[in-house]
Amino acid sequence: MTTPKRDRDNPTRHIFITGGVASSLGKGIASASIGRLLINMGFRVRIQKLDPYLNVDPGTMNPFQHGEVYVTDDGAETDLDLGHYERFLNQPCSKHSTVTAGSIYQTVIQKERAGKYNGGTVQVIPHVTDQIKETIRALDAPDVDVVISEVGGTVGDIEGLPFMEAVRQFAHETGRAYTCFVHLAYIPFIRAAGEIKTKPAQHSVQKLREIGIIPDFMMCRSEKGLTKDVREKLSLFCNVETANVIDLADVPVSVYEVPQVLVKQDVHTLLCKRLGLPARECDMKAWDLMVSHIKKPKDTVTIALVGKYINHQDAYKSVTESIDHAAFSHLLKANIVRIESDSLEKDDAWMEKLKGIDGIVVPGGFGKRGFEGKLRAIRFARESGVPYLGLCLGMQAASIEFARNVLGLADANSTEMNEKSKDPIIVLMDSQRDVVQIGGTMRLGTYPCTLTKKTSRTSRCYKEVDVVLERHRHRYEFNNAYRQQFEQAGMQFTGLYIPDAAAPDNSLVEIIELKDHPFFLATQAHPEFKSSPVEPHPLFRGFLGAAWKHKTKGQVDGEGMHTISAEG
Ligand code: GLN
Repeated sequence: MTTPKRDRDNPTRHIFITGGVASSLGKGIASASIGRLLINMGFRVRIQKLDPYLNVDPGTMNPFQHGEVYVTDDGAETDLDLGHYERFLNQPCSKHSTVTAGSIYQTVIQKERAGKYNGGTVQVIPHVTDQIKETIRALDAPDVDVVISEVGGTVGDIEGLPFMEAVRQFAHETGRAYTCFVHLAYIPFIRAAGEIKTKPAQHSVQKLREIGIIPDFMMCRSEKGLTKDVREKLSLFCNVETANVIDLADVPVSVYEVPQVLVKQDVHTLLCKRLGLPARECDMKAWDLMVSHIKKPKDTVTIALVGKYINHQDAYKSVTESIDHAAFSHLLKANIVRIESDSLEKDDAWMEKLKGIDGIVVPGGFGKRGFEGKLRAIRFARESGVPYLGLCLGMQAASIEFARNVLGLADANSTEMNEKSKDPIIVLMDSQRDVVQIGGTMRLGTYPCTLTKKTSRTSRCYKEVDVVLERHRHRYEFNNAYRQQFEQAGMQFTGLYIPDAAAPDNSLVEIIELKDHPFFLATQAHPEFKSSPVEPHPLFRGFLGAAWKHKTKGQVDGEGMHTISAEG
């Protein structure tokens, strides 16, 4: 399918998504789902998140407050919504997909210090709003048909105002024919009255209109669906055509149903009509097949996720999503049991918590709290043959556990946890020694990893390619002084980062794998940032297959099982 080149009469179209009434309504999922539909119609899409908070990026934010920090190929530390974008679109985002008020102000102030404003008074309008428009425009390119920009927060937030003003101006300058506003609002169900109420949504639209934004679409989040009356009422009072009032009631099984919900209401055609794009068929075959697999699992496997931030729903969002993707590619349902790693330290009956578990994941993390509990879970996996997948800190912890309990190095540790450890198995990377600022200074983004052993499980999972690309976010690494000792005791280094082929001693350990274990594999990378429902990550797939084999006591060999087709 060819799309005509961009020119003045056929510019890149822009869709802006705003939110009303409450936060956490799933604006990210709605934005990503719209992106999916456009891609399924053959359009070339870019997507970005405009976040009104003052942090320059979310990298320094506590996952307890803000959920996981996502990482792009080019090393940006971003809001977790970029994860939704990549998973739904099955295409990578870049640092241009993440914009915060902090990053905008930082650029404006840098420009001011560099004398770029010619002595003018630097103000929110026009300087901050101009900078916001410039960053939106940065995604706008000849090979991009549609840019989707999600405005974080809720209309009415003081800090969101410059963004709202900037997108209003942007639409005015670009032309309303080429820009479209989608407002996602909450429609509460009042139990005592037995009714859903539209007033808060109406008020949020009024707030938008105060700024000068008139939504073209309303997407209504509710527990129950909208009745015809409610749709008509919203249409009349919010000044939105009835067909453009979209019902986004909670989906029964999975968020991956949302694109289907939108297609059923013809959102793809309505959007094309609104933006003057040619209406095309929206090919949902691969997506529908994937959702049908989610809905008909043949079996369940129980996976323990042992981490520190268990109480925040979204602290390990990409990890739980990747487990799910891999599960449904095997026609399984993953029952994910979140275990707070501290609880494995205190409780005498800690082993009870791991009974009946088919696989254990220790995800990334920082700091001492709960670290010893993670080591216990890993020891349990290693000794009892339960499949184990370690991610970043989960690889470092697996190495320390091995050093302590197999090599007998009782004081083995990471210098992150104990600077004075006699056996520092994990140490600060050389490149980190002079780092003072904590924001944006880790080893971030994609690095190549050479797979060193064709016969390893690692290579089998990755389909025996020579080099894989994975994303990173860490400061510490495996201490090469211990490599030989580990290898002699049965730990294999199946993936290495080799920056200089002439000096192999400088390589970094990226993937470790235990010999003679059904599945004990850990990586310094974050493969969870590269999994999508239509293309599950190979390591998660291998792990889920092994967990299933464990559950069925070897009767089903997960490795060779059915996979849904990846998009061509
Ligand atoms: N804290 C460890 C490091 O900085 C692991 C980081 C992570 O798991 N993302 O190396």
